[in-house]
Amino acid sequence: MDSPKPKSGPKRPGPKAEPPSGDEPLLEAGDVEHLSALQLCDLISATLRLRGGHPWEIRLLRDRVEEMEVLQDQARQAVEDLTEAVEKLRAPALRLATFIQKLGKDRAMICVGGTDYLASLDPQLPEAGLEPGTRVLINEAFAVTASFGLDKSGPVVRVSELLSDGRLRIGQESGTGDSVVLRSPSIDAAGLKPGMEVRLDANQRVAVELVGRGRRIDRTLSSDQPLLWSSIGGQDEAVKAIRECIELPTLHADLFKRFRHSVPKGFLLHGPPGCGKTLLGKATAHNLRIQLRNATGVDRPEFFLHVKGPEILNMWLGESERQVRDLFAQCREKASGGQLAFLFIDEAESILGTRHAPRGGSNILSTLVPMFCTEMDGLEALQNVVVILASNRADLIDPAILRPGRIDRKIRVRRPDKAAARAIYAIYLTDDLPLDGGRESLIDAISELHFSRTESNRFLEVLYRSGRREFLYRGDLASGAIIAAIVERAKSYAILRSIADGKESPLGLEDLRRAFETEYRENDLFPPSDITEDWLKLTDLETSNVIRLAPYREKSTGEAVASAII
Ligand code: ADP
Repeated sequence: MDSPKPKSGPKRPGPKAEPPSGDEPLLEAGDVEHLSALQLCDLISATLRLRGGHPWEIRLLRDRVEEMEVLQDQARQAVEDLTEAVEKLRAPALRLATFIQKLGKDRAMICVGGTDYLASLDPQLPEAGLEPGTRVLINEAFAVTASFGLDKSGPVVRVSELLSDGRLRIGQESGTGDSVVLRSPSIDAAGLKPGMEVRLDANQRVAVELVGRGRRIDRTLSSDQPLLWSSIGGQDEAVKAIRECIELPTLHADLFKRFRHSVPKGFLLHGPPGCGKTLLGKATAHNLRIQLRNATGVDRPEFFLHVKGPEILNMWLGESERQVRDLFAQCREKASGGQLAFLFIDEAESILGTRHAPRGGSNILSTLVPMFCTEMDGLEALQNVVVILASNRADLIDPAILRPGRIDRKIRVRRPDKAAARAIYAIYLTDDLPLDGGRESLIDAISELHFSRTESNRFLEVLYRSGRREFLYRGDLASGAIIAAIVERAKSYAILRSIADGKESPLGLEDLRRAFETEYRENDLFPPSDITEDWLKLTDLETSNVIRLAPYREKSTGEAVASAII
């Protein structure tokens, strides 16, 4: 029968092996206590050799024992390495803090996560690298052990005041109040002025870098450009809706209050480009001023802040948000100074779009929309600031913006039909101009020409999913902008002719006709390509029904075909 295999394993005391009684022991028990298995083998081997008997199996046993000891050593080493790695992984990260100021010989005030601590300084740490705003490493005992110089990132804020003791007062544009911060010695006080932008350390306690003068979007309509409703043609419906939405609640505030009727904080103008959205916005501001002056005798000049959505978009994280806060802050400032403040955001879908909006980074959009809502919620309806959004893709604007209490009035600005176009021609072909033939007949003739559904007026060809083809005519893509451009161009023809003839040559139908042809060919309101999506944006066509929409071109054979659709 096989004897049971001896268990291998770490050296441990275990039950002590007693020398068998009777036989003469090879070794004394006391001698072997401290020996390893290998040493024991060697000792047994030597003793047996001395006694003249040395079975070869002893050699075999020694080799096995040696192998096991090597394996055991390797395993022990692996366990030690792993234990060390696990300990490293489980060790808490050392924290970083902002150095605020040195106190005494080996103490300092530091700030961690917005809380101040009195910490010990490692005496080895060179004092030169420690100045307010420096990023320092602290160990588990909150002692400062290393310094990393000034932090490279942190919020940018605008300085509103330089205090006499060197500290800075900084403005919180969100309107949550100002705060005071220290100034790092790296910022030269002499070069610092209110209005400049500085970067704070990550704990927002010390201004550590001068970033420059803040880019403030400041594009305002000066109040000497009054725009009356009468300078906008063919938008009677939109004008009526705006007046009901803005003028009535302002002029009859008591009645609205009495009936607890909700008063909007602004409205959305939506419609194709060049049809007067901006014009309507500006006219709203000016006419409200006039109405208020007539009703109350108090003149409150309008402040019209006009920005395009894409101007606000900025590659720097947080910068776009800052711009939006700043726009609201500018308007609030003006309103508190007694002005009628209007914030007009053109191409609003670019910054206030749903996350599916094609333009703009979705990350920016996802933070801009809630921020804009917060700013809107902070406004009191018509008390200080009126917000007007303009877009030709209102479907892309985030519904959160259009909720009641924010911008809940949507006003459609339509393309002019023939009658509206006539009204717009009448605005630009004024009776004080040198006109050939009667003004009225000139206006009639050009409006007729603009909207006639003739071969030469075919402008776009549409191919529907159903297989149906259709033409859109120039009149279908008429806009106030193009009418204004046609009249301007016609005027330039008349001027050039007058110069060439050496005498005044009045503006006639031929000038208008030529200008009309050229504008539809060259006006930059129209996309320069044949890309269907670009053209679709200019029409009211249901996107999903259209396969192709492209400029219509006559073939040289005279047979009209849409070259784009083959
Ligand atoms: P939108 O903001 O809808 O793109 P704008 O209001 O900027 O269009 O219009 C551009 C220009 O076109 C205006 O400055 C004006 O000269 C002219 N225009 C547009 N619509 C009208 C209109 N309904 N009546 C008179 N002029 C118009």
